[in-house]
Amino acid sequence: MKAIPASAADMRLIGGRLCLDFINTVDGRKSASPRSESGSINRLVLGDKLGEYSDLVEWSRHSGIVTALESGRLIKASKRNAAEARNVFDRAIALREALYRICKATMTGRRPQKVDLEIVNDELLGARTHERLTHMAVGFTWEWVDSEAALDRMLWSIAHSGAELLTTGDLSRLRECGAEECGWLFEDISRNRSRQWCHMQDCGNLAKVRRFRSRLANAAKG
Ligand SMILES: [Zn+2]
Repeated sequence: MKAIPASAADMRLIGGRLCLDFINTVDGRKSASPRSESGSINRLVLGDKLGEYSDLVEWSRHSGIVTALESGRLIKASKRNAAEARNVFDRAIALREALYRICKATMTGRRPQKVDLEIVNDELLGARTHERLTHMAVGFTWEWVDSEAALDRMLWSIAHSGAELLTTGDLSRLRECGAEECGWLFEDISRNRSRQWCHMQDCGNLAKVRRFRSRLANAAKG
């Protein structure tokens, strides 16, 4: 188990990419069944850190995709339009789980489910209508427009990050933490591709303690 943070705004951001950190907004994931009949990946979420729209906003501020000022505006707007906020929240969870399953399928050499790709594509379609090519002092960049009033603005960045990972990322470096019931994903950018844990102080140390205890037990038996 990890040192479990109290809220979404305290989560460790260890994935190496926005979309992976978003997938990791849970305490852990546990296998529900090895594989369902359709071949999809079923993992139970343990300790979901996103319980409502305000958690999504808090995490977005924490991860830097909205500013403190913007997050305040989003919370106010969500109170004026609770039904829309609820809908955005449901879409966020659907997007998170679809991204998780696509990454897992990729890591295990299987085709992702069509329905999961459709979820990501739907969000990308929405995001693209807000994307503008802008000239900077040096070169060009993508900028989000008409974001002020949009409750779903954080989903644009997350969907964009997911698409970027899947199209231009080195997918052979995608990893799942080696600890039982952790399930956090990250990009292993270590030179010898040897990163095993989401975070050494959490899952890494725990694994070391377990190995040490098992060595002691074996020595006592021997
Ligand atoms: Zn871990």
